[in-house]
Amino acid sequence: MRKKIVAGNWKMNMTFDEGQKLTSEIVNMYKDENVKDVVAILNPPFPHIFPVKKLIGGVEGISLGAQNCSDKEAGAFTGEVSAKIIASFGVEYVILGHSERREYFQEDNEILATKVKEALANGLKPIFCCGESLDIRTAGTHEPNVKFQLTQSLFDLSPEDFSKITIAYEPIWAIGTGKTATADQAQEMHAALRRHIASHYGKEIADNTSILYGGSCNPKNAQEIFSKPDVDGGLIGGASLKSRDFVDIIKSF
Ligand code: PEP
Repeated sequence: MRKKIVAGNWKMNMTFDEGQKLTSEIVNMYKDENVKDVVAILNPPFPHIFPVKKLIGGVEGISLGAQNCSDKEAGAFTGEVSAKIIASFGVEYVILGHSERREYFQEDNEILATKVKEALANGLKPIFCCGESLDIRTAGTHEPNVKFQLTQSLFDLSPEDFSKITIAYEPIWAIGTGKTATADQAQEMHAALRRHIASHYGKEIADNTSILYGGSCNPKNAQEIFSKPDVDGGLIGGASLKSRDFVDIIKSF
């Protein structure tokens, strides 16, 4: 049975105090409201990693993720943070391939393949983002385009390593725009990606891979999107910065 996951991507938001408040509220709601069978992952900016980890403590079902890691192992790369350092702080997941990283930091499929390997070599589980631009969606080539992102960055992995990957399908035109993909559009792409994974790694691995939807997901639309058979949760940006919204999304299954 594949995991249901709701991951919050704080992006470059939250001061120390704001991050502490948000985390405490999420942890308390998650516990008090008896959330079950859904893994919640908080992905704060790097300086929050250690204090957020302390607040999460041993609450079962809540995990910690980073938003990026370096493609380099170690050394003179000022400003970079390696997978090894991240893992040494008890972080379990790392988001890789977010469209903002692809667009603003020129991360292509090749560098992402290296980052994925670096993360896995250090025990981090990648949440690998893929998704098409509006132009590609309008041209109708979104399916091959997104499949290609997976092929290029992930299909070199051994089946054992691939089994540690979570996929996040995030149409770029839906991220931060308030323009969510319809539940049917999400289902169509998720099913296509699962078939694509099956064609390379076999049905069992494909059936066990969690595929999350991301793009203007909120408490109002999450239930319909999560009800689709190939949607295993969400990667949440804006709505993950409000504890009530984030926990309501977690409870939308
Ligand atoms: C994201 O950045 O991963 C995201 C899905 O953002 P938003 O929910 O704000 O669209």
